[in-house]
Amino acid sequence: MERIDVPGHVLEVCRELGRTGYQAFIVGGAVRDALLGRPAVDWDVATDAPPAVVQRIFPDTIPTGARYGTVTVLVPVREQTGWVRRPVQVTMFRTEGEYRDGRRPEWVAPAHTIEEDLSRRDLTVNAIAYDPWEERLVDPFGGRADLATGIVRTVGDPARRFREDGLRLMRAVRLATELGFRMEAGTWRALQQEAPRLARVSRERVGEEWRRLLRAEAAGRGLVMIYESGLLLHVLPVPHPGRNAVERTKAALDRLPAGDGPERVAAVLVGLSRDDLDDCVLRALVYPRAHAKSAVHLARMLRVFSADAVGTEPALRRFLRGLGRSNAAAFARLWQAWQPVEPARLGDGLAGRIVRVAAPGQPIDLSDLAVGGRDVQAVLGIGPGPEVGEWLERLLQHVFEHPEDNRRDRLVHLLRTWKTGARQPSPPCAKHRS
Ligand code: ATP
Ligand code: MG
Repeated sequence: MERIDVPGHVLEVCRELGRTGYQAFIVGGAVRDALLGRPAVDWDVATDAPPAVVQRIFPDTIPTGARYGTVTVLVPVREQTGWVRRPVQVTMFRTEGEYRDGRRPEWVAPAHTIEEDLSRRDLTVNAIAYDPWEERLVDPFGGRADLATGIVRTVGDPARRFREDGLRLMRAVRLATELGFRMEAGTWRALQQEAPRLARVSRERVGEEWRRLLRAEAAGRGLVMIYESGLLLHVLPVPHPGRNAVERTKAALDRLPAGDGPERVAAVLVGLSRDDLDDCVLRALVYPRAHAKSAVHLARMLRVFSADAVGTEPALRRFLRGLGRSNAAAFARLWQAWQPVEPARLGDGLAGRIVRVAAPGQPIDLSDLAVGGRDVQAVLGIGPGPEVGEWLERLLQHVFEHPEDNRRDRLVHLLRTWKTGARQPSPPCAKHRS
C-alpha cells in the first residue's frame, strides 16, 4: 500500500512547489498516522526550496520559524460555512548541527536530499516521507516495518540521539503510549541510561509531552514506562515513589476516561504527590492555571474524603458544598477509579449517590436556596449586613436536613417562626423550673 489520502490543499502546496522546480514530500506525523489509518493532526511538507522562495511562491505565508527553515503556508479552502485558511508547514530539508546543551541544535544546516532530512528525525516511524505526485514512500530506516510490528525505535544510535536532544526520551515514551507500541530493546536500554538528560530540557517541552501522554487511552502504561525508564524523577518534582504507588496510580488512570479532564491529573497527584507539593508539581509541568486548580482541588478533596463520614444525605450535602457542584461528576469518577476493587463490584453505590445528590435543583450551596438575601431582609425587616448571611446559612443547614423544605413559602415561614422565636426567648430549662 503506497497511496496516502492527502487533502486537496496539501496536494496543492506540493504541486506548486513541484511546478517551480522544487521537491516536495509529506513528512512526520501525518505520514505515520495515515499509514496506521489514523486521522492526521497536522500536515508537514519538506522541500529543497529555501524559506524565502516559499514565501515568494505563495501569497499567504507566516515565517513561523525562518531560522529553522519553516514557513507556514495558508491555503484558502472552501467549506460549507465559507472560505477558511488551512495551514501547511513547509520546512526546508535540513540536517542539524551539534547539540551542545542537549536542548536545541547550535545550528541548522540545509540538506540536499530527503534521505538526509529523514536521518535527523527522532524515530523510525516519524522518518518516512511521501511523494504525493509519484505516490511513493521514502523509508530509509525501516519505519514501515516498525509501524507494522508496533515498535518504537530511534533513527540511528539511540544513546547518541537521546544525548543530542533529551526531549526525544519523552517523545519516544509518549508515542509508544499513544500508539500502544513496544520499545525496541536497544532504544529502551538507552532510555534508561540517558534518562538524566531530561533534566536539561525546558519545562515547557517536557510538560507538553507529559500532558499528551496523560491524555492517551493507555496513560497508565505510559506512567509505568516513565517510572521504569527512570524519567519520572525528572518529570515530577516529588520524592521517588515506590512501585506500589505507581501501580496504584496506573490502575486508577486505566479506569478514568482518556482526554483532558482534571481527574487523571488529580489521580497522579493523589498517587504520587502530597498536599504541599501539588502546586509545585503542576507548575513544573506548566499546566494551565484553571486546569491545575481543579485538579489540585479534586486531589485534596479525595485525600480528606471518607465514605463513612458521608453515610447520611445531609453529611454528603455538606461535603459536596465544599467540593462544588461542577466538580461532583469528576470527583465521583476519581473516587471510583481510586478504589482497590473493580468498579463493577462497587456497583452504582457512592459514586451514583454523589451524582444524584449534586444534581441541579438539589440544595448544596447558598445559591441553591429558594430565597435570597433580599427576601431575608424583607421578611425580617433588617438591612444588609453579615446578619443576612447568618440567616441564610441557618436556612441552608436546615435544608441540608430537609431538602423538601427548599421552597420559597416554606423558607419564608421558617424565617418568620425563627424571628418570633428570637424575639421571645423562652429558655426551656427556665420554664420547667417555674
Ligand atoms: P504529532 O504532531 O502527532 O505529535 P509529529 O510526529 O508530527 O506528531 P511534531 O512535533 O509535529 O510531531 O514533529 C514533526 C516531525 O518532526 C516528527 O514526526 C519528527 O520527524 C520530527 N521531530 C520532532 N521533534 C523532534 C526531535 N526532538 N528530534 C528529532 N526529530 C523531531
Ligand atoms: Mg505534527
